[in-house]
Amino acid sequence: MTDIVNIVICVFVFIFGSVIGSFLNVVILRTPLKQSLITEPSHCFSCGNRLKWYDMFPIFSWLILRGKCRFCKAKISPRYMIVEAVTAAVYLLAYLRFGMNGFFWEFGVAIVLFPILIVLSCIDIDHFEIPYWCSITIGVIGIASFFIPYADAFGAEWHERLISLGIVGVLFVLLVLVGGMGGGDLQMMLGASLLLGFRVLPGLFIGIVLGAVYGSVKKFRERKAEKEISTQIEQIVKDWYQNQLDRDIGYVLNGHEDIIVGGISDGQPDIEWEFLDEAAWKGIPEKSDLSKAIRENITTEREGAFRIFIKEDLVEKVKYSRRMVFGPFLATGVAAAWLVGDVIVNWYMGLLNINVI
Ligand SMILES: [Zn+2]
Repeated sequence: MTDIVNIVICVFVFIFGSVIGSFLNVVILRTPLKQSLITEPSHCFSCGNRLKWYDMFPIFSWLILRGKCRFCKAKISPRYMIVEAVTAAVYLLAYLRFGMNGFFWEFGVAIVLFPILIVLSCIDIDHFEIPYWCSITIGVIGIASFFIPYADAFGAEWHERLISLGIVGVLFVLLVLVGGMGGGDLQMMLGASLLLGFRVLPGLFIGIVLGAVYGSVKKFRERKAEKEISTQIEQIVKDWYQNQLDRDIGYVLNGHEDIIVGGISDGQPDIEWEFLDEAAWKGIPEKSDLSKAIRENITTEREGAFRIFIKEDLVEKVKYSRRMVFGPFLATGVAAAWLVGDVIVNWYMGLLNINVI
């Protein structure tokens, strides 16, 4: 192919990606709310004015309008533009790596896989949840790829996919137990194991490293806010516990201690409570009173978990930590694994003098 043709194709792929990205924004907003994807004409969320055709170019319209509505100047989140730009960029990468070199199956999978990864990342950020259908679709593509002869040039044998599934499953049960990872992360990575075989391992590694780096930065930056909320919750818990003691119901017996674990979830009126040692209590503590008091006073927090340490008639300590999402990092790892996982695996095996793929 001549250079000029290739450049034209690259531009086309990039624009196509940005248009798909524009549609992904709709999917991200609407599917969690179970709204239809068939859109009424695009309009501003603030003033309701319909957008002109020239305001609907992916990426560029946002840049030209500098993130503000043409009519009412309301701010438009940069995320719309970022999703469009990222989709365009990963489509271009997939073309350069696969499409241009004749790996059409890999390119085709990327065209479907990357949007799913982008959608699940954004929905995870918004709702702390990875949609079921995303993980299932990834797994189904993985299973399908095994039945398409010569399609999967970097493909994995059945036993490799199953071994990867097992390794990821075991690793993740540990990660979920330690905390930080959720069931949605697990489902996604199981799906990715079926698709990637051994290549899922560098993907998982990349995801965990990125997540850990981000988690440490976030922890450091938010330690003050978390401490403030811990103090606030501690006061609420102390008042509540004093009330329990006064009414002579629901307190920790002499010579005992317990930890109450609570989780605030976005949009849930109730807090989930877990008592580690119910036998330490006399009577049943009024959980709903405590939920109500915390819900009324702590309105800024979307998701988080706290641990309340109680010894006899004393609330000793309350620790609060905000929840962090792992989906976007794992998704980045999976995307990287799809693009260059074989290179990483071969490089690593080369170090060990083994050739697998
Ligand atoms: Zn407006």
